[in-house]
Amino acid sequence: MDCIFCEIAAGRIPAKKVFEDEDVIAFLDVNPTSFGHTLVVPKTHVKNFMEADAAIIGKVFGTASALGKILQEKLGASGMNLLSNAGESAGQSVDHFHVHLIPRYDDRTKEALTLEFGPMDLDLDQVLAKIR
Ligand code: 5GP
Ligand code: ZN
Repeated sequence: MDCIFCEIAAGRIPAKKVFEDEDVIAFLDVNPTSFGHTLVVPKTHVKNFMEADAAIIGKVFGTASALGKILQEKLGASGMNLLSNAGESAGQSVDHFHVHLIPRYDDRTKEALTLEFGPMDLDLDQVLAKIR
């Protein structure tokens, strides 16, 4: 099956476009988790942020930064989450690198997500030894 985000980037499938230049396209998520939930997507196909080269990373995150500021101002958001899922266990459902820009509000009726970091009881030196 063709990649849905490649199809959107090529203009063959419609999307509610927020921004576009030659390298990046940003559009509203079809199943928004908050008011203004936007996806920032490179036009070239790459699986996730770990597979993308530095130029693509710069373009996608640079766009996300600028667009985040605009969304915050225009929508009256009080905060913003930036999220990029990689792999099924992380919740990636479209295997074309994308960044979620999720405006956050004091008014909880404008959002439908919960994002909680529960603490784990870990020996951090053991963790570090594995990474280094
Ligand atoms: P993931 O779960 O891979 O991090 O995020 C993929 C996101 O893409 C989901 O939030 C989903 O709602 C959105 N999505 C999937 N297909 C389409 C589509 O055809 N159009 C738009 N605008 N969003 C899509
Ligand atoms: Zn693709």
